Amino acid sequence: MRMRLANNQVAKLKSALAQAGTKEIGGQLFGEQLAPSDFRVTEIAIQARRGSFARFLVDLVEAGRNALRFFDRTEHRYKRFNYIGEWHSHPSFELKPSPQDVETMVKLVTDPAFKGSFAILMIVRLDGDHVSMGACLFDPQGTARAINLESASGS
Ligand SMILES: [Zn+2]
Repeated sequence: MRMRLANNQVAKLKSALAQAGTKEIGGQLFGEQLAPSDFRVTEIAIQARRGSFARFLVDLVEAGRNALRFFDRTEHRYKRFNYIGEWHSHPSFELKPSPQDVETMVKLVTDPAFKGSFAILMIVRLDGDHVSMGACLFDPQGTARAINLESASGS
């Protein structure tokens, strides 16, 4: 599994993280499948409602709206453009999913209504001027594994 992040999205993330300070923020990842197991995140949706110092809660209404907007813009070509996963920041903690984060993601991918074959959880933190990132892939069998993230040029 290869996952790249569009540079303009990393820049957007960086300013949102700077503004949020010690509050956790998050949202959804949407993007493009370039080849089997090769994805580029072209949109990092940033939820308006921030979390607290140690917890971020997904606003399902806003998440649904963001997904519809992304699908409209990419003309409902779901095979190529789709939901990739969730992200949130850990301004005060390490870049690993907390036990609660793991539980939330396993619940998401093992839900019978979940249509994808995986979901990523990306955790980010602003370290000075640099956005540090970590990511885990969760599959419908309920297993999780760390994956590498790369920055990619282009939008
Ligand atoms: Zn977390």
